[in-house]
Amino acid sequence: MMNGKESQNPVIVAGGGVAGLTAALDLAAAGRYVELVESAEHLGGRVSELDKIYPGDHCAFCPLWTDIRRVEDHENIRVRLTSRITGVVQTADGVHVTIATEPRYIDESLCVFCGRCRDVCPAGAVRPSWEHASPPSFFIDKTRCTKCGDCVGRCPTGAIDIERPPVEIVLFADDIIWATGFEEVDLTPLPEFGYGTHPDIMTSLEFEEWIAEASVNQGRILRRSNGREPGNIAFIQCAGARDRRLLPYCSGVCCMHALKQAQWIKRRAPEVGCTIFYTDLRTVGRDYFDYGLRSLRMTTGVDLVRGRPGMIRPLPGGDALALKYENTETQTAEIARFDLVVLNGNLAPSDLTSGREAGPPVELDSGGFVSAGRDGTAPFACGFSREPADIAESVLRASSSAVNLAGRKDGPSS
Ligand SMILES: Cc1cc2nc3c(=O)[nH]c(=O)nc-3n(C[C@H](O)[C@H](O)[C@H](O)COP(=O)(O)OP(=O)(O)OC[C@H]3O[C@@H](n4cnc5c(N)ncnc54)[C@H](O)[C@@H]3O)c2cc1C
Repeated sequence: MMNGKESQNPVIVAGGGVAGLTAALDLAAAGRYVELVESAEHLGGRVSELDKIYPGDHCAFCPLWTDIRRVEDHENIRVRLTSRITGVVQTADGVHVTIATEPRYIDESLCVFCGRCRDVCPAGAVRPSWEHASPPSFFIDKTRCTKCGDCVGRCPTGAIDIERPPVEIVLFADDIIWATGFEEVDLTPLPEFGYGTHPDIMTSLEFEEWIAEASVNQGRILRRSNGREPGNIAFIQCAGARDRRLLPYCSGVCCMHALKQAQWIKRRAPEVGCTIFYTDLRTVGRDYFDYGLRSLRMTTGVDLVRGRPGMIRPLPGGDALALKYENTETQTAEIARFDLVVLNGNLAPSDLTSGREAGPPVELDSGGFVSAGRDGTAPFACGFSREPADIAESVLRASSSAVNLAGRKDGPSS
């Protein structure tokens, strides 16, 4: 039997997070050949950086791993890591897509993970690709590598080639599904949040990774400044979101992950106080309101304050942080002292415009979300790259995009 790879033009899926993995698997199941283009060194996207996930409170990694293996093993899916779409030219029959692949420098099929390259690197450029990768391998961070070549001679299997050039190819594809997810937007332009002024002012993604069981602190709740347990933690909702100066919309998932993080802090370190400063507590999703209530009930010591701080500053000596805010329920201005602050809300869909100069088939509305595709049809953008979405919603949108696309052009085109 001729397999899909040989018999038809591919569909390109840009982004290998939960949305991209789902879209690729659904398209492949419908008999389409998929080229999955992922800019990172591994698949999984942001979910691979998370600790526990709501609403089930289970480990993020287990279900993700199953999908990654299914994608890697599927005969109708080809994965291109460290790759980006740099150009899109639309024709009547499909799209010419330019894909640029950065060299990894270390061939993961030869790497035996001995660590000699890392030990000898003077620039600290050699890093493990991902703690969950199987088999594990190292990669070289090109932003740090000075190309001194010390690692090359130390590798016992000849896996390192730092002169490997980038590769660019052009594929003719039936269409593209954009699943490029989200990015954290820099909060330093909003000085009231104090981001960058103190190590204990963190974004939610930094904090999630910092307290994750699979990361450096193995689930312990610690301050970044001194490695000690904080007495109390403030979660600041809508930091950067619903704010015309940065992101005018609701970031969609932040109330839920603040409730989740507070719950996990109380499970692991019940003595640590948690306060969530909110504008509206939005628990959008099936059973999410119940999850929120459960979180608050089972974790005595999580306080809710309605109000957005107008000033977060390190106190003299740098040992703690001062928060000035208006409590909009009591309408009083108040000042409180916290050991650690988590900023929630600075999440924006990733740049769908990569390659846009060459005319990719999307238009963005005033909020920055995908509004229309070519011919006024809905574009194939899904997951967080379409608009803020949790995992369940991202997966649903990805399946919907895949099914619509598979239905539009069914079967081999050649
Ligand atoms: C702190 C935090 C905690 C969260 N906790 C939960 C939770 O408990 N439960 C829940 O349901 N949701 C949670 N979320 C939301 C969840 O992370 C998102 O719903 C999910 O990551 C969306 O998946 P995605 O595939 O759309 O995007 P992403 O996970 O962002 O994946 C996008 C992928 O595309 C790649 N990419 C980006 N640009 C390009 C490009 N130009 N070319 C090729 N590839 C590209 C990226 O490298 C990435 O691999 C949380 C979010 C945060 C910030």
